[in-house]
Amino acid sequence: MRLEGKRALVTGSSRGIGKGIAIGLAREGCDVVINYKQSRDAAEATASEIEKLGRNTAVIQADVSKIRDIGRLVHEVEAHLGGIDVLVNNAAVNFYEPWPEISEESWNRTMHTNLRSAFFCSQFTALSMIKGNIAGSIINLSSTNGTVAELDVLVYNVSKGGMEMLTKSLALELAPEGIRVNALAPGFIETDANRSFIAEPAFREHYEQHIPLKRFGTVEDCVGAAVFLASEESSYMTGQSIIIDGGLVSEQCPRVE
Ligand code: NDP
Repeated sequence: MRLEGKRALVTGSSRGIGKGIAIGLAREGCDVVINYKQSRDAAEATASEIEKLGRNTAVIQADVSKIRDIGRLVHEVEAHLGGIDVLVNNAAVNFYEPWPEISEESWNRTMHTNLRSAFFCSQFTALSMIKGNIAGSIINLSSTNGTVAELDVLVYNVSKGGMEMLTKSLALELAPEGIRVNALAPGFIETDANRSFIAEPAFREHYEQHIPLKRFGTVEDCVGAAVFLASEESSYMTGQSIIIDGGLVSEQCPRVE
């Protein structure tokens, strides 16, 4: 119960890593509000798992690519939980598209959902934390793509590179308020976002061979680090990014066998 008495908002927690983190925080005693864009049933299923753990929860629909929705979301979470100690900026999209085909619309959709949302969720939440005299923790879901580029997902790479710098910049801005800002940078974690690729035998084999720990990550692999960053155990850490990738980006070009 490392998070007893804490209150959290996890954006995009109807499915995938966000869902896993929301339940992981609740297991440690945290009340958690679930946010989703369109998967209402999935969001309610996450909330019912949290209720079973005896924690306070609520489900709030909000499209975090829209600043007006973010203002409403943070306001409703504050009203429901009485304050926010932990914000997890998790919601994101990723579209595979060759660079000549990237349109203004898809650039904006990805950047607004992945990066702009993280800033404005943090801005609204930090102002609420300051008002409530809360020494909170903000956790940004970055990616190994934030430091190492991947072909055909240029805008996603840029959004996650921005997430790395947003983490450092916000950490500096919010340190005087006692609010910490850190990031998680997962590698390949099996979720709806990549399940169809992972199901392809050639793809699966290629990655399983090149990931040093010889497997894709699971949602649960991300939860321990999120709990750590949300808890007092990381109280002297801010502006940092924790890579969770089975060793993937630790290796230079693999050797010829
Ligand atoms: P999923 O695609 O499985 O889930 C995305 C979640 O975000 C869903 O709950 C979805 O809600 C929500 N969401 C998407 N757009 C919005 C929006 N505009 N407003 C509110 N919620 C939204 O993603 P993952 O779990 O795989 O990824 C979670 C995070 O981890 C992302 O930031 C991703 O970039 C990062 N990450 C993931 C990796 C992976 O291998 N899976 C690797 C590295 C980083 P709804 O259900 O309503 O659509």
